[in-house]
Amino acid sequence: MKQYAVVGHPLEHSLSPALFSAEFKQLCLDSSYVKEDVLTSELSAVIKKVRQDVYAGLSITVPYKTDVLQYLDRLSPEAMTIGAVNCVYKQDGVVYGENTDWVGFKKALAEHTDLKGKSVLIYGAGGAARACLFALSDFKKNVSLTNRSKDKGVRLAEEYGVKFVEKTKLQNCDIFINATSSGLATSVEPIISEADLANTTLVFDLLYGETLLTKTAHKLGIETVDGKKMLLYQAERQFELFTGQKAPIEAMGKALSL
Ligand code: NDP
Repeated sequence: MKQYAVVGHPLEHSLSPALFSAEFKQLCLDSSYVKEDVLTSELSAVIKKVRQDVYAGLSITVPYKTDVLQYLDRLSPEAMTIGAVNCVYKQDGVVYGENTDWVGFKKALAEHTDLKGKSVLIYGAGGAARACLFALSDFKKNVSLTNRSKDKGVRLAEEYGVKFVEKTKLQNCDIFINATSSGLATSVEPIISEADLANTTLVFDLLYGETLLTKTAHKLGIETVDGKKMLLYQAERQFELFTGQKAPIEAMGKALSL
């Protein structure tokens, strides 16, 4: 039996075990997927389990997508550019790090819109924002970035060749992307005002399910993309890397109630 795990902290709300278990069941694979809720000091040991074939693959989540880099043998060019890994697997004795978040984001976005001529504003400057910026590399003339911590935002915008805009000077954009960890449905503080969303036609919130932002967007008649779609498509790619098989996307979508 092959065993896989999601590695992060905390992991109570991780949807990955349900998602991967649905895939294994659908394809009748003798595999299981568990949670490895570890502290930073335990990260090296859990990667060692891939080296020792205890795990056939790992999904890496918050807060270890960057910390994990130091324990891997080789990174894909994409993971190296983004500077974050969310998928670890072994091939021919080499432990690889890959980033599939950008693939998931790009595919989910493409399902909802054509980017040609559209202005995009990304809010956030963490690992998720980096994956979004990488996915939008071909459209950077139309992409702007904002962030709570200005210095971090300015640095990231410069690195990816996009414009930085002050939080207080947000211009209306066609597509607004929330790549911050703020804005759950229970939040009271909106990350963007209704006025700043006046001309927006699509809101993509990387958070899962209904959020304060998507509630506001629906009230304003704006189409939304649920973060679960990105999760789905990044997991589709992970599944292919883990097993070499095509992922059963319908069963996965059902497992996420999509
Ligand atoms: P990081 O910790 O690397 O970055 C967090 C970002 O959120 C920073 O830009 C930070 O701003 C900002 N932020 C945090 N709190 C607030 C706040 N109260 N107001 C405004 N900005 C805030 O996290 P990640 O980039 O890895 O992840 C961001 C989110 O995206 C997470 O919620 C994660 O779950 C989600 N995600 C979803 C995926 C999916 O498949 N749907 C995939 C990957 C991530 P500052 O720089 O000022 O601290």
